[in-house]
Amino acid sequence: MIYALFGNPVAQSLSPLMHNAALKEMGIPGIYVPFCVRNLPLAVQGLRGLDIQGVSVTIPFKTEIMDYLNDVDDEALRIGAVNTVVNRDGRLTGHNTDWRGLIRSMKEKTEIKGKTVVILGAGGTARAALYGVVKEGGHPVIINRTRGKARALAQDWECPYESLKNVGKIKADILINTTPVGMFPREAESPVAGNALKNFPWVVDVIYNPFKTKLLKDAEKAGCRTLSGLDMFVYQGAEQIRLWTDKEPPRALMRQAVLDHLAFGEKESL
Ligand code: NAP
Repeated sequence: MIYALFGNPVAQSLSPLMHNAALKEMGIPGIYVPFCVRNLPLAVQGLRGLDIQGVSVTIPFKTEIMDYLNDVDDEALRIGAVNTVVNRDGRLTGHNTDWRGLIRSMKEKTEIKGKTVVILGAGGTARAALYGVVKEGGHPVIINRTRGKARALAQDWECPYESLKNVGKIKADILINTTPVGMFPREAESPVAGNALKNFPWVVDVIYNPFKTKLLKDAEKAGCRTLSGLDMFVYQGAEQIRLWTDKEPPRALMRQAVLDHLAFGEKESL
């Protein structure tokens, strides 16, 4: 069995580490391989030709890949992004497990129903977050650096929007960062100034490397409760394995494999 990651770049991804640990534990005779894709349609042909059973899709192909699949499920269609492809005898189906991963990890910590949730960003992960928040009965507000993109997304989802520079004027129950700001190796950066965070009782980051981003450290200092992207990452990956194999993935082991890879200092802050 071969499973793959399609993205560009892929070297930084911890998906191979997590998925290979899971396949080994599950006794599945297979390997998960990262591919730095240069030509997406040719890569998708290769997927059929090599009988690759399943693919994780990452930046920048989550939207473009939809054009090359046989089917896209309703959730991924509404979100407008596919992060998982299942290959059944050459027939390719696209799914999105990001939204499920995010919402599961959040619901372990806090209620979403009835809450006002600021979503920072307007890219693929923001759309997955929007889908999940609305499905759970939350009230999203989109905040993005490029105001026009926030407006377009807000019109599509019939919700309020604001530009990033006004984030300090907003109060909400939860703030979710879906931008890559603060991700390894640029850990010193944060998308929001520390003094603007006190208006959010919960601050969630989708970034998992580092485990505790500057945004989350600043949020703790401001008295907010915080959630790292690690559990979202593990849940979305576990859901991919379930889709590919119809078997229950070893989630605790997958989480530990990722944690072991992250720096010691961070493990201590768990
Ligand atoms: P994307 O589609 O490229 O969207 C990125 C968004 O971030 C855009 O709205 C962009 O704003 C904003 N942005 C980028 N740089 C910024 C900056 N310097 N200041 C302010 N805003 C900035 O990316 P994506 O696919 O949604 O991925 C975003 C992040 O989510 C990545 O770090 C990815 O690793 C992470 N992720 C984590 C998981 C997980 O399982 N934990 C799953 C999926 C994704 P503009 O519109 O102004 O350009």
